[in-house]
Amino acid sequence: MQKPIAVVTGASRGIGAAIAKSLIEANYFVVASATSESGVSAIKDTLAENGTAFVLNLSDKSSCQDFCKQVTELGPVAVLVNNAGITKDTLMLRMKDDDWDDVIETNLSGSFRITKAMLKGMMKKRFGRIINISSVVGAMGNPGQANYCASKAGIEGFTRSLAQELGSRNITVNAVAPGFIATDMTNELTEDQKQLMMVNIPLARYGEPEEVAKAVKFLASDDAGYITGQVLHVNGGLNMG
Ligand code: NAP
Repeated sequence: MQKPIAVVTGASRGIGAAIAKSLIEANYFVVASATSESGVSAIKDTLAENGTAFVLNLSDKSSCQDFCKQVTELGPVAVLVNNAGITKDTLMLRMKDDDWDDVIETNLSGSFRITKAMLKGMMKKRFGRIINISSVVGAMGNPGQANYCASKAGIEGFTRSLAQELGSRNITVNAVAPGFIATDMTNELTEDQKQLMMVNIPLARYGEPEEVAKAVKFLASDDAGYITGQVLHVNGGLNMG
């Protein structure tokens, strides 16, 4: 394989699809994932000769193993973007164990499993870029999202710890924390919830998936070689840290 490999989880739509496109522009061979065979074949059609895709369900250990085996057979991974994520929003008193477990398994434990499997190749090559997609609410919190906010705060701690473990191997580990981005995930919110969010965004608009993808592309690039352990916020000013 000529081009370096970039893996993007959850690239069938939304932010992941935009990240896959931007990494193709940066001359990577993109290996993407979707949860279904039909999603995989749609991604393959889009990527054409610039990449491939496999099924991945992050909440299922054996699916993670199968995905990682298929990816690592292609060669060492230069860039890993842990993008796939879910929400199961409800107020704490109504939150079921499954709502909590599914979100933590998918958003946090799944990223742990994929990252661990991709690390060997990076360490051998003494090069790697790991970019975890967090969320503005990992820092702010949000009512009705205790599970999701915990998963994203967890991913930020995971990012900083790995950055310290892997710096000496020339592997950088950063997170990108999007604010309110127009995708299927935010489409589920009611108009009232969207309006409430909008009044707190100084740039007075929702972000586009491509605006998050540009931050990821930067962190994957040589220009970001001395940046590690950071959380880059792309949120229109919704949270200023
Ligand atoms: P989205 O449009 O809902 O897309 C989610 C992606 O994740 C899809 O490709 C989906 O695959 C995949 N996915 C869902 N469940 C999965 C599972 N169990 N295992 C593996 N993959 C799974 O979401 P998005 O808005 O693009 O969000 C992408 C990332 O950005 C997430 O980590 C999210 O938390 C974060 N984020 C989003 C926003 C926002 O405003 N949209 C804000 C902050 C952070 P299928 O198509 O096969 O279902």
